[in-house]
Amino acid sequence: MDDEMFDSLKHLPEVQEQKPKRKVCDRCKRPTSVCWCSFLPDPRLETKSTVYVWQHPYEQKRPLSTTPMLKEGLGPSKCHIWIGRHLSEGKFPKVREILESPNTILLWPSPDSIDVSELDKDVPYNIILIDGTWFQARSLYKSHEDCFRNIRKVQVSSDKLSKYLIRTQPSDNCFSTLETGALTLSILQNEPKIYEELTRPLDALCQFQIDHGATKHDSKQSQENLYELPYEGYGRRKGSGKPKWLRLLKETASLKLKDQPDADENEDKSDDLTN
Ligand SMILES: [Zn+2]
Repeated sequence: MDDEMFDSLKHLPEVQEQKPKRKVCDRCKRPTSVCWCSFLPDPRLETKSTVYVWQHPYEQKRPLSTTPMLKEGLGPSKCHIWIGRHLSEGKFPKVREILESPNTILLWPSPDSIDVSELDKDVPYNIILIDGTWFQARSLYKSHEDCFRNIRKVQVSSDKLSKYLIRTQPSDNCFSTLETGALTLSILQNEPKIYEELTRPLDALCQFQIDHGATKHDSKQSQENLYELPYEGYGRRKGSGKPKWLRLLKETASLKLKDQPDADENEDKSDDLTN
């Protein structure tokens, strides 16, 4: 190329190489090739009880979160998401009313938790689920322990194994947020099809991911067999043996590492119920 030609080319606008944009589904926000919306119940399920998911801010950013499936599978008034580290009335106007209602139950394993199946079935409950990694969920709970003091804690147990094959659960009897909500609603209404219909998008999501090269994860309990955690998510607590402190320390450290640095430290806490 002679210099003259090179100079003339220098004045041409730089052409940016553009990657074709992936189409994203408006509803589930997933690429359309792996959209799970067609697996949602249609029409959306109008259950007797209402679910309130208190979600850690980082969980919202996880592309493989199951909470949107619960929200999209239930009628619009049957599933509400509270995103934030603080349950403030400014942000969530109904929060105090929900926390003070005798019909509110909290899915949380504690020594006084009862099994969902033992609850009176004719009551429309407000079901609170805490959504995040085990570490995040525990820190949300601990920071609001006083608010939850008078709320009935319940656990859900099932002989089902978690369908969430692509995200390692701490033990065989731990479920994703979607599965926990779906199982609870299903048991409270004695309608197994509620669970089946609500978790169909999860089956699809796991299959998409496996088709795209994800590997199935056994639970950590399966991997290590003698793994013990003081907190086993929403599944039934197995025994009351003391945790092996070293494994617990390693678990906490690895969960901490997975956590991102705080992004919402400046979140308004002025009307936080814990204040
Ligand atoms: Zn979709």
